[in-house]
Amino acid sequence: MPARIIDGKAVAATLRAEVADRVRRLAFRPQLAVVLVGEDPASAVYVRNKDRAAAAAGIAASTIRLPQSTGQKALIAAVQALNDDPDIDGILVQLPLPAHLDTRAVIEAIDPAKDVDGLNPINVGLLHDGMPGLAPCTPRGVIKLLDGVALRGTRAVVVGRSALVGRPVAAMLTALDATVTLAHSRTRDLPAECRRAEVLITAVGRAEMIRGDWIAPGAVLIDVGINRLGDGRLVGDAAYAECAEKAAAITPVPGGVGPMTIACLLENTLTAAMARRV
Ligand code: NDP
Repeated sequence: MPARIIDGKAVAATLRAEVADRVRRLAFRPQLAVVLVGEDPASAVYVRNKDRAAAAAGIAASTIRLPQSTGQKALIAAVQALNDDPDIDGILVQLPLPAHLDTRAVIEAIDPAKDVDGLNPINVGLLHDGMPGLAPCTPRGVIKLLDGVALRGTRAVVVGRSALVGRPVAAMLTALDATVTLAHSRTRDLPAECRRAEVLITAVGRAEMIRGDWIAPGAVLIDVGINRLGDGRLVGDAAYAECAEKAAAITPVPGGVGPMTIACLLENTLTAAMARRV
């Protein structure tokens, strides 16, 4: 049987509509502030997309644009001003920052209650303790795409251990009672580890590295990777056609995890606003 295609676009559209509906019922408008340092074109596109999606959900979004030459002190002062602004519910510092800036210190400066990217160490600690807090958007999107998949006791393998994706996904799956293996570039015999997975999450950044014969028949495969090939095509970490022959369900790239990230950012902004104001 061909794999069920997990349609991230559709799930994200539903979530965005739900957020918009909840925002409409509020007596206030949640506010998201995005800090963009420098002129990186990809970051500028992401920020524009976030602005549009927020507006469509009834969330007020503003972008604080700072020049490439912004120093550490000035950036932290800008973040602190947003922390102190009672009208701002969510703060997102667009990454990557220019190399002369200390990303960790900037993220640590964000008020954890407004940290809608879920990267502040307080929120990271809460997530790893299985406690409520603001959790990173892409991993939350991954978990939402697993809705309807029985996770309790399931053997889950996460390939990639970044702070942004792999580690938080592993923590979330653990909290949902999956039995999690977190694999990475030093994992011995990665194909064998993947073959043990009933649920396989790949967040690596290597085009089509995961082959069809790495997939257990009937596994669920969520491919977070976004890789551009020489011919301009976007592909995931998994060789899609081969893996779809083995898997019970699979996310496409594009149209899988990608659309979930912004939808979850909107939901996090609403969550932060509700916690602060209601
Ligand atoms: P990072 O580069 O931070 O992390 C990659 C991880 O993959 C590392 O843990 C690394 O291991 C591991 N890895 C690298 N090569 C191999 C290998 N040959 N075998 C096994 N593991 C390997 O990437 P991110 O986590 O930030 O992103 C991963 C992918 O997800 C990228 O393609 C990115 O574009 C995409 N992405 C998509 C998003 C979306 O919205 N859909 C959002 C964020 C990311 P080690 O730790 O040992 O170096």
